[in-house]
Amino acid sequence: MILDGKMVSEKILTDVREKIDSIIQNNVCSPPSIAILLVGENEASESYVKAKLKACEKAGIFAQLFRYDSGITNFELIQEVKKFNKSKFDGFIVQFPLPEHIDKESIINEISAYKDIDGFHPINFGKMAIGQKSMRPATAYGILKLLQHYKIDTLGKHVVVVGRSNIVGKPISIMLGNDFDIGRATVTSCDINTPKSLLNEQCQKADIVIVAVGKPGLITADMIKEGAVVIDVGINRLESGKLVGDCDFEEVSKKASWITPVPGGVGPMTITGLILNTLEAWKMKNFID
Ligand code: NAP
Repeated sequence: MILDGKMVSEKILTDVREKIDSIIQNNVCSPPSIAILLVGENEASESYVKAKLKACEKAGIFAQLFRYDSGITNFELIQEVKKFNKSKFDGFIVQFPLPEHIDKESIINEISAYKDIDGFHPINFGKMAIGQKSMRPATAYGILKLLQHYKIDTLGKHVVVVGRSNIVGKPISIMLGNDFDIGRATVTSCDINTPKSLLNEQCQKADIVIVAVGKPGLITADMIKEGAVVIDVGINRLESGKLVGDCDFEEVSKKASWITPVPGGVGPMTITGLILNTLEAWKMKNFID
């Protein structure tokens, strides 16, 4: 069965719109607004930004795109971030990837934690890790919402997360191990240093496998237990132009009970995570519970 991120995302965006409308009716405040800072020209980023702008429109959030030349210096980009920290926008993101000469961490660290709707700032990451209310890393948040929508039980389940990046693998491992609305799982985290035999062994035992690596065909059917849930975060463009995840979808889907497609699985849920963080940032600014 397919975990339909596109459908779940549409539903959550409608719920968010209704929530915003009802808050505006009862409070004196303007609708949420966000800015998207895009540096240089990157085909994939262009399409992600387009999807984010469209999702904001559906959710009743005002969104504005700001473009910067790829030659912008690290210092200049930090000055821009500081400007947006003080701006009227309730939140903003700096679209990744950034040109190689920009130090991504220095940009993330400069974003105000209150406006960090990607949920990447160390303060938000730390709060998330200890289970406090915070903006949450958007992809991981979206995956939680997807599991929650389909009532996939995580309590005491063995979850294997393949990939340990700060933006996906690490936060989803922490969130599923935590006591959030959904979580309390037994989580195993694997990365490039995990020997192939151990990776296979762990995946074969897992009730839920989440893969976020960026290598097509990394997860094959022999690595998956019959009836397991498979969440494929990977996005890879093959030479043929086809977009695929990190799993051999054809074969893995025959064994999995639930699986996310690529595209249409985690992608739309990442944007949903961003929208839910925006709602949170806006409510915080306006002192709304
Ligand atoms: P990343 O920063 O490159 O991290 C990849 C992780 O995978 C690293 O922890 C790396 O380990 C690990 N890894 C590499 N090769 C491995 C292997 N053979 N076995 C096990 N682990 C391995 O990437 P990311 O930003 O997390 O993104 C991962 C993928 O998800 C990409 O395809 C990206 O495009 C996609 N993505 C999709 C969405 C979405 O909305 N669907 C959102 C974000 C990212 P080391 O750190 O030790 O090298």
